[in-house]
Amino acid sequence: MTNKEIFEKAYKLMDEPIINGNCGLLCNFHCCRDKDEHGNRLGIYLIPEEYEAIFVHHPEIEVESLTKEEHGDIYLPDEIGNLNYMYCGGAMDCIRELRPIHCRSYPLEPHIENDEFMLVIEKDQIHDCKVIEMEQSWRKEYLTGVYEAWKLLLKIPIIKTYIKYQSNERIRSNNIKKTIKLF
Ligand code: SF4
Ligand code: SF4
Repeated sequence: MTNKEIFEKAYKLMDEPIINGNCGLLCNFHCCRDKDEHGNRLGIYLIPEEYEAIFVHHPEIEVESLTKEEHGDIYLPDEIGNLNYMYCGGAMDCIRELRPIHCRSYPLEPHIENDEFMLVIEKDQIHDCKVIEMEQSWRKEYLTGVYEAWKLLLKIPIIKTYIKYQSNERIRSNNIKKTIKLF
């Protein structure tokens, strides 16, 4: 499979809501704000190769390439280079079919520890996410879709490097709230 095919398949697998209904109504769409409380524009980071696979074909979407100094993650492995930051229109203008991987996976994060892949939820949360404590209501299709999609994405070496780096940072800073048991 090409990277483009992998991303397209991952988008499809991750096209499941976490709970029945629209969880944005529980938090006033906190993770989909297009501005912060000071009026600064907000967007979302793309994962490595996501711009090249998907967004390069959609010049109507504004994506900015940020250097380590600009995004602040100065220990990011050199081979990853800059990170791409995508500006969306916020919840009311979301182009649903172009939601990036991070939007589709959140609040679950991919994690690799002792060579084992798993999904986790972080302790540090910048969003007022209501569904994190609603584990009983999480849909099986969402869990399976996110898990299978990340397994596929991890076949792309630079993504595996990125996720391993993030996992090590998470372990180092004791930032795992819970590990997700799939079934
Ligand atoms: S792309 Fe859509 S789902 Fe993602 S943050 Fe923007 S509004 Fe939310
Ligand atoms: S912050 Fe959580 S509850 Fe709110 S829209 Fe995002 S995923 Fe749903």
